[in-house]
Amino acid sequence: MEKNIYITRKIPDAGLKLLKEKGINFDMGLNTLPPTKKRLINILKKKQYDGVISFLTDSIDQEIFEACPSIKVVANFSVGYNNIDLEEIKKRGILVSNTPGTSGIAVAEHAVALMLALTTRLVEGDKFVRKGKFKGWDPELLIGTDIQGKTIGLIGVGDIGSKVAQILHRGFGSNIIYSDINENIALEQETNAQKMDMLEVLKNADIISLHVPLLPSTKHLINKESLAIMKKSAIIINTSRGPVIDEKALSYALKNGTIGGAGLDVFEFEPKITSGLIKLSNVVLTPHIASARENARNMMSVLAAKNIISAFETGKVINNIIK
Ligand code: NAD
Repeated sequence: MEKNIYITRKIPDAGLKLLKEKGINFDMGLNTLPPTKKRLINILKKKQYDGVISFLTDSIDQEIFEACPSIKVVANFSVGYNNIDLEEIKKRGILVSNTPGTSGIAVAEHAVALMLALTTRLVEGDKFVRKGKFKGWDPELLIGTDIQGKTIGLIGVGDIGSKVAQILHRGFGSNIIYSDINENIALEQETNAQKMDMLEVLKNADIISLHVPLLPSTKHLINKESLAIMKKSAIIINTSRGPVIDEKALSYALKNGTIGGAGLDVFEFEPKITSGLIKLSNVVLTPHIASARENARNMMSVLAAKNIISAFETGKVINNIIK
């Protein structure tokens, strides 16, 4: 039976090729910017789509399914799925999947890159040179810190958090402490990581890196109170989802020396950035690009397509979000 899907933004050819091989028709949004909700609804109203490949920039909820009630499967092109109303999906019996395990290396490396950018003062140094301020070697210029020998606190040690631990343990001999709702015995054995309460992790870590999904229980996990517990020199890294940190509280803490620095790839009000953060030199900001690698994007494209194909062929998705 002929199937039609809508892909809200352009995905790499690797996944499209699989869809074509299976005779699945697709229309695809080709704009650089994500479609507005209104535009997406108008597009979905025009055809009886059987499925959608969506992005974290699309809010997939009741309005979408009312516009296109024929949708049977939503394959999210990302690991996180906080953009999808799972209650609505359950109510309607729609299949829903994500792309776990596709961007772990990329995001873990990016988290470590943000750590190094701050400890080496790399971005500040780059700006300094470009502004023509470099007048010769100065023993007191832009003094940084080592990662070697530091204690790294990971909040969430699933795929990405574990990979960060491995890189830091093997490459820097870091002492790893973590908090997670689940114990990760394999990681403990491999890296000597120690599980603790989150407050203990925040109190003892020199660098804290967040790797939890955005859930009601993790929204503002890092807030005024948790920032106050951290070391004054602590650096916090967020490559998970923006709202895991109360950005206003973070901006205040960074400005007032409650903590030492922050490396952020994701933002609470993305793409808006809390204005105070922009002005601070102890902050490194990247535009949600932690998974932006050719390899990761190809794997995401293939897995999203495979989930769509599996839904049509077997009535099940491979990476079912609803457990
Ligand atoms: P994962 O599911 O493998 O790991 C998440 C871990 O968080 C699990 O071990 C889980 O037990 C733990 N956890 C859940 N709730 C918790 C809580 N309340 N307190 C402590 N731990 C908790 O996911 P992953 O692949 O490691 O990805 C983590 C997140 O990273 C994703 O959900 C996504 O939002 C984000 N992400 C961001 C990018 C990016 O481009 N910046 C790319 C990929 C993923």
